[in-house]
Amino acid sequence: MFKFGENLFVEGRSWIDDAGYINVWYDGRAQFVHRLVMEEYLGRKLTDMEIVHHIDEDKQNNEWWNLQLTNLADHTRHHALGFHGPVDPLRLQNLQNDRTEEF
Ligand SMILES: [Zn+2]
Repeated sequence: MFKFGENLFVEGRSWIDDAGYINVWYDGRAQFVHRLVMEEYLGRKLTDMEIVHHIDEDKQNNEWWNLQLTNLADHTRHHALGFHGPVDPLRLQNLQNDRTEEF
């Protein structure tokens, strides 16, 4: 199981910003935990064009299975269409199961 965000949190160098995202002091600068988790998952750095979306809309749920790589255009469209609030718990459970099977 992926523990990267959790370890960072335990180290006590993280905080929640005004927008509700968990930040961490890492590699000499403040960074978003959800982006670090995605980078760890992909095994590479993200570009500035890439955006990490929280599938269940919970900005603090940085479990890797809850994060989806997207871009600004798709991300804006997604939120503009009104996909807000919690997603179907069954769909989320399936997602968690599917992605866990990849490992
Ligand atoms: Zn989003």
